[in-house]
Amino acid sequence: MYPLDKKENCGVFGILGHENAVGLTYLALYSLQHRGEESCGIAVINDEGKISQHTGMGLVPDVFNKDVLESLSGRNAIGHVRYSTTGSSILKNAQPFVISHHKFSVSIAHNGNLTNAVKLKRDLETKGSIFQTTMDSEVVLHLLVRSKKKEIEDRLIEALKDCDGSYSMAVLSEDKLIGVRDPYGFRPLCIGYKDKSYVLASETCALDLIGADFIREVLPGEVVVISKEGIRSIRPFPKRCTSQCIFEYIYFARPDSSIFGDSVYDVRERLGIELAKHHSIKADIVISIPDSGNYAAVGYAKESCIPFEFGMIRNHYVGRTFIQPSQAMRSHSVKIKLNPIKSVLRGKNVIVVEDSIVRGTTTGSRIKTLIEAGVKKIHMRITCPPIKFPCFYGIDFPSRKELIANELSIPEIAEFIKVDSLEYLTLEEMLNAVGKNRDKFCTACFNGVYPTKVHKKTSKSVLEEK
Ligand code: 5GP
Ligand code: MG
Repeated sequence: MYPLDKKENCGVFGILGHENAVGLTYLALYSLQHRGEESCGIAVINDEGKISQHTGMGLVPDVFNKDVLESLSGRNAIGHVRYSTTGSSILKNAQPFVISHHKFSVSIAHNGNLTNAVKLKRDLETKGSIFQTTMDSEVVLHLLVRSKKKEIEDRLIEALKDCDGSYSMAVLSEDKLIGVRDPYGFRPLCIGYKDKSYVLASETCALDLIGADFIREVLPGEVVVISKEGIRSIRPFPKRCTSQCIFEYIYFARPDSSIFGDSVYDVRERLGIELAKHHSIKADIVISIPDSGNYAAVGYAKESCIPFEFGMIRNHYVGRTFIQPSQAMRSHSVKIKLNPIKSVLRGKNVIVVEDSIVRGTTTGSRIKTLIEAGVKKIHMRITCPPIKFPCFYGIDFPSRKELIANELSIPEIAEFIKVDSLEYLTLEEMLNAVGKNRDKFCTACFNGVYPTKVHKKTSKSVLEEK
């Protein structure tokens, strides 16, 4: 049994030397909202080195208003949207974290999950560190403060050399913005340029929104140091096998972003094409479960020449169903989120394209509503293989026994969710659809092959242990 947190990914953003740093960070966080709906925050450092910050629980528009934004002044800012991968859902864990030390001020926004945080925290506490939060990311700040190096980037590098797991980070000091991606490159991070200022963002959709040009992605294991002098690249870590999270393509990233060198939309469409090639069946229409299944459903319809229809309409005023900490809340929001269109579905043989099945509970209740709407037959097609193993690098997968594919065979899952047929892409087919750099992805959730050593005690319960 793996002690695991049932929590999720995050989004980060940073900008250095811009008049409207706070306003642009606020906008960028809007476009990264899908990466975390639990809490968000902005930290700013002004030209005198004074650091200020505002964080809160909830969505970007819940946490920030005009007054709050006006109270944050400075030309250098970082921002964060969070759903916790480690640490609990409380305000003190909201990021960016800020520290003011007699030598420097620094702020950090982290996307990822440090798999040895528990051990590092224990060691640090033994040496006298006092932790303010239950977040794995705080460990990095304590290590950074203890470093004897002079420059902030060297302190950060020394700190990260002790850290295992996944991290894409934006770190802000008085005069530098630092972007770093762990040596495996699990999570995305890119560099943009706006009005003579460099920016960092988890996804390119944030650059699009603020009108920044895309420069390039931060490379796995790369540290980019942005200052008045420009941008400098350092490769301080031992080289590792690139293991980008394939689930960013399957589900997590926004389809209008480009990550890991390819358009998320295009990859999803190709996943649908691959499904139609290898898992075809006769039917009247192809539908998706919105929104995540939409793009692959378009691909499936194109390849199969079966018409695509909108079979369900999404209520856009409901948050993402998984981002509700309790099971009771989750099942509640499933019902209010999607409504089937009876006139489209009644009496039809339907292919339902979906990106993934995790627990099977949401899918089961959605299928039920399709049956109630009068479909004749349901053939479900999934754009990835069965998810059988937990993620230690930041995706919200539950413990093994809650993963339906770990407990049931594919025919048993079909019976459980009440579909007439159920097929998944194989690992090989999924990687074929990804195409470019197909050997540079982490597929641990499908095959249990973890690219890093797995530290068993990574759960929040252990992090919070007294
Ligand atoms: P399940 O049937 O396993 O309960 O839910 C499957 C649905 O959850 C799919 O529609 C899929 O798009 C969505 N999903 C998959 N992974 C995640 C995740 O990490 N977070 C959220 N919010 N939804 C997810
Ligand atoms: Mg979905």
